[in-house]
Order: sequence, then structure tokens, then C-alpha cells
Amino acid sequence: MEIEKLRIAMLSVHSSPIGELGTKNTGGMSVYVREVAKELGNLGHLVDIYTRLNGSGQKQVAQLCDNVRLIHLKAGDNGHMNKLALYGHLDDFFTELERFRNRESVDYDLIHSHYWLSGRVGGWAQERWEVPHVFMFHTISAVKNSTVGSEKEPELRTVIEKYLARKCDRLLVATDRERGHLMHHYGACPETIGVVPCGVNLALFHPLDKAAARKQLGFAQDESIVLFVGRFAPLKGIDRLLGAMAHLKDHQRLRLVIVGGDRNSTPESQRLQGLSRELSIQDSVTFVGRIEQDMLPPYYSAADVLVIPSHYESFGLVALESLASGTPVVATKVGAMESILREGETGHVVNNGSPRSLADGIETFISRTHALSADKIRASVFRFSWANVASAMIDEYGAVLRSL
Ligand code: UDP
Repeated sequence: MEIEKLRIAMLSVHSSPIGELGTKNTGGMSVYVREVAKELGNLGHLVDIYTRLNGSGQKQVAQLCDNVRLIHLKAGDNGHMNKLALYGHLDDFFTELERFRNRESVDYDLIHSHYWLSGRVGGWAQERWEVPHVFMFHTISAVKNSTVGSEKEPELRTVIEKYLARKCDRLLVATDRERGHLMHHYGACPETIGVVPCGVNLALFHPLDKAAARKQLGFAQDESIVLFVGRFAPLKGIDRLLGAMAHLKDHQRLRLVIVGGDRNSTPESQRLQGLSRELSIQDSVTFVGRIEQDMLPPYYSAADVLVIPSHYESFGLVALESLASGTPVVATKVGAMESILREGETGHVVNNGSPRSLADGIETFISRTHALSADKIRASVFRFSWANVASAMIDEYGAVLRSL
């Protein structure tokens, strides 16, 4: 099998690689699909990303970048649909996919599906096309359901993931911890699991002058700034970050900037704003809403520390983005945190996620004397370029293609 030029069907049914990042269902996975596909395209591989048509005015086929097409297929009504409802339309999606593929006379060497909904479609394609199916979980239902503070996932998802763990030719996870989870919860065979860490766009995220970044964003120069970037989902643990800020109330000139969330009017956003009022910290918390990713660099540079208070992460891309921008990270023991943070130098992993221990971690870094220089913090993540991720991916694809 020629590894030089593969034709890859990438499935990302519920979450578009060009979707609105920071909203409830669109985050790291969309970034991952977009960046990996782009790098695979740069290497000369042909990638077709299939996603659900969601909204009007979308062309069926869009050229995302060299060698990468984004293909919108209809599944149910056009517009927002929750994941369980979408499950009922996956067969329509596959029918549309087959129709498109036949019309274009395109065959693929390999299927790479993302998240359980796409995994289901990938499983059908695997049977019909008789090509290998590489599956990436992103988060694992059984782990989410055993995590305190997380929204419970439907049993259906757990059943499908368990099935995919046995049926797919290769399972990809981003950390050794997730590999352990797959073996423990789904009985996945260790030999079928590949660990490929996530990446960061080092050209986009780099240190900017802190004072200039604050001026641009209208933030005070004499405040210590704690930053959160992410979706507003219960597993992100924003409540306990607000709790940590309440412990730090006596600090003069301390501000929490929260980036993410659909709009300030959503129930979750309203709830979080209500909680900050209950904790009497509303004057030192700024909710800025979701920000386009290419507008995020000044936020990372304006901050003294990024906090990841999550109950669960499959990796935690925002940690890499912050470090690449030269800003240290205080995080709970989730995702890749222990392997990407250098204790006391580029960040701190708290022993438990209580507001008190998060507050202690934040306090260490807002003094600005403990962390390394911005350039040294950035240098600690050079190995996480998306180009490196794509080349590890090609190794995974090659191994699975050779093994059949
Ligand atoms: N993000 C963004 N704008 C926002 C909030 C988040 O562009 O307002 C991006 C962020 O840069 C990161 C991704 O969304 O690349 C979140 O990924 P992460 O792995 O941290 O969390 P996930 O969404 O996968 O749970």
C-alpha cells in the first residue's frame, strides 16, 4: 500500500471543523479535525471531511485548503439538533454519503471517524467499502458518566462506544490515561490503541506584549488576570473556578476573564453570572462570550495565568495554546496536564479540584515571579506542532494499512 498519497474519508458528523468554537458542542474536536486535515493535505494526502449540513447558505462542497474538501450532507432538518435526535438520522447521512461518493466516483483508502456518532457511520462504511476504520473517541462516555459534575451521557452512547472499541481497526486517544480508560471500561485490546497527543498552532499562538494586549482588549494594566477559555459545559468546572475566586476576594486588583459560551443570554451563562453574584465576586469577573480562535492570542497574552478547572478532559487544547503564548497554566489532574506542564515552572497541577486548592495554585502564579519567561514557557510546547501530530497520524495509518 502506497503511504505517500492516501485518500482519507474523515467523518465529523455532529461538529463541523468550521463551526462556532466555544459554543456548547463545538470545541477541541473541531479544531483537531481542521488542523489534522490541513496538515495531512500539506503532506499531499487527499482528505474529504464529511459533516452534517447545519444552517442555510452552506455550499455542499467547500475547498478548506490544499487537498482538503469539506462536504456537507443532509441528515434530518437543517438546523440545530441534539445528539440523540441526530443518531436517528445517521442512516440518512450515510445514504447521502454514498450518493455523493458514487456521483463523484471516489474511493477511499481509509476512514477516520471522530466521536461516537461518526464512529457509527464509519462502521457502516467500513463494512461496505472494506477499508480500515480508525476511530477517535475524543471523550469517553463511560468516563464522563463516572465523573462527578458531568452531564450524564445516554446509555446508547456507551453501548456504541463499547462496540466500536471492538470493531474498529485502530483506536486513537490523546493520552495514556485515556488508553487505560478504554481498556478498563470497554475491554479494548491494548495493541489496537494508538496514543497521539494533540497539537497547537504555533504560528497563531505566540507571546505578545502583555501591556499592548491589555490595552487592545480594554483590560486594566494594574490587575492580575486569571483566564478561562472553553465551552460552557458542566464538566469544565467553571463553578469551582468561581469558588476559587471567592477565596481570593481579599486580593487587591484580581480579575477573572471568562472566554466562551454561546451568548450571555443562555441559561448556563445566566447561571454562572448568578453564581458570581451569590459569591459577591461579580465586579471582578468579566464574561466576554465566545471569541473567534484567531482573536484569542491577545487574551492569552493579557493573562497572568490560564486556569483549567475541569472535571474531565480528553486532552485540553487550551493548555497548549496558553503555553505557546507564554502564559502558565494551573489545572486539575485531567487530560494531558501532567505530561505538558512542568511543575512550578510552566504551571501547576492541583492535587484536587477544590476551589481552595485552585485558589492556592492561582496565587502562586499571579505573583508573576514563579513562572519561567514567556519564551521559555513557549519553548516547552514546541514538540506539539500540528505537523508532528499529522506525521504521527500517518504512522498510525501506515501501521493499520500494513496489518490488513
Ligand atoms: N475556543 C475558541 N473560542 C472560544 C472558546 C474556545 O476558539 O471562545 C477554542 C480553543 O481555542 C480550543 C478549543 O476551542 O482550541 C477548545 O478545546 P479544548 O480541548 O480545550 O476543549 P474541548 O472543547 O475539546 O472540551
